[in-house]
Amino acid sequence: MTPPVDLLIRNSLLLCAFDDTGTELPGGWLAVDDGVIVAVGDKDTAPPEAETVVDAAGCLVLPGLVNAHQHLYQNLTRCYAAAAHVDNLTDWFWAYFTAWGRLDAEAVAISTTVGLAELALSGCTTSADHLYLHPEPELIDAQIQAARDIGVRFHPVRGSMTLGEADGAICPPNLVERVDDVLDDSRRLVEAYHDPTPSSMVRVGIGPSTLMSSSDAAMIESTAFADAFDVRLHSHVADDPDEEAYVGARFGRRPLQVYEDFGWLGRRSWLAHVVYPNHDEINALAAAGVSVAHCPSMTMIDGGLPGGPPPIRAMLDAGVNVGIGCDGATAADHQSLWLETKTAMLLSRQREGRASAMSARDALRMATRGGAHAVGRDGEIGQLSVGTNADVSVWRMDTLPYAGVLDDPVTGLMHCGPASAWHTIVGGKFVVRDGEPVTVDVPEALRRHRAAASRVQGLTCQ
Ligand SMILES: [Zn+2]
Repeated sequence: MTPPVDLLIRNSLLLCAFDDTGTELPGGWLAVDDGVIVAVGDKDTAPPEAETVVDAAGCLVLPGLVNAHQHLYQNLTRCYAAAAHVDNLTDWFWAYFTAWGRLDAEAVAISTTVGLAELALSGCTTSADHLYLHPEPELIDAQIQAARDIGVRFHPVRGSMTLGEADGAICPPNLVERVDDVLDDSRRLVEAYHDPTPSSMVRVGIGPSTLMSSSDAAMIESTAFADAFDVRLHSHVADDPDEEAYVGARFGRRPLQVYEDFGWLGRRSWLAHVVYPNHDEINALAAAGVSVAHCPSMTMIDGGLPGGPPPIRAMLDAGVNVGIGCDGATAADHQSLWLETKTAMLLSRQREGRASAMSARDALRMATRGGAHAVGRDGEIGQLSVGTNADVSVWRMDTLPYAGVLDDPVTGLMHCGPASAWHTIVGGKFVVRDGEPVTVDVPEALRRHRAAASRVQGLTCQ
């Protein structure tokens, strides 16, 4: 007799796999053993016996969402009064630097716990994070421990700022690092934590923050480091008119041209934002296999950008891989990847002037397969297929927001809402169950977060 598998999710309203053939199974089920999906079937096929059975009646079953760009520490300064109504990127950075210069290990750890818990409630099972301020050593170590405790797959990027105000860049002296120190710390992190295996919970990347605060050496040596250690490269590019003006004055080139000059246009790279690429640049990204992390709220929250929303439809049509990121909690304030996926769908429809420009499935494919590809894990996560990690999000559709959604729960999930995941499962383990986080003591986490946020913002603890 065949022994039971670890977990069976059965009897769903619909299982939408986001695999290569777009499998959608009414009454679909999936079986999990040792953290991996071992079988998938529909209402007409018999599932195996299992130790734990989850009845998904009335639920849509999707892959876990993958957050392709994030700065978790920023939830310590959400809606920070000094920056809430600043209209340009340069002033925005300067408004935050005093507070961010007070980051310590406890603040970074609890911001990671709170941020990943909020993301898990939105169906997210893997998140990148880009930490480019290091007023104290070993802040990413604290993040990795927090991510392990909560059980969300974590892709920290060892970010940096290597040019300061004295060089005409946007970074105060206390946050400028030497390139050699950045590389030494990156090597330490990769050797201590980077796990390249398919079931990995932690993979480390390297990523100078932006051309506005990075030296030529940091840009060039990061690519050599990524090649030497076989890790991914990440940065911000083409996200604001201030950046374009700064880069034009410093290099006489457009931002993406400079990334190309520095050897960044390759399959290792995934770049956040890319709001205003021209036709040639889109084709260059596609030809090089560069992924884009689209963060739609960021492009709107400060009033919108002069060129309008980014041309995501054109990028997809040209063959550019696009994932979705929430960005930091000062660029989007919320950390719901469901909401950011919905926002991405709406923003592209507005840009193109037609609903067909971005379907619910298009948006969810970016949030699953697109994100998985961006962080270098297509084939491991982001789809519900035999042999992939059992990272699953389960959404109840028998609730008030979805009353009347009869034909198509996938479109319903994106058009209606607000939505919160009913279950979020990573490698077969529950991170959210019955709508509640199970690996975080939420009241205690909020108490620690309030203390840390007060300290970072320079306020008396409230
Ligand atoms: Zn960012």
